[in-house]
Amino acid sequence: MGLFNNLGKKFEQLKQEAEASASEEATHACRTCETLLYTNHDACPECDSQDVVALKRD
Ligand SMILES: [Zn+2]
Repeated sequence: MGLFNNLGKKFEQLKQEAEASASEEATHACRTCETLLYTNHDACPECDSQDVVALKRD
């Protein structure tokens, strides 16, 4: 029982780390549909909005 619980937790942790690192690498985002982008786009590839902004980095 405990083993399965641990595997489930580990999976959740890996999934969250993958999502966190993905958002760290994004350089731009669409403000209309909130898609994260990894290169500058004149228009969002997801929704064709031109409201693409550069993400600020600390
Ligand atoms: Zn969009």
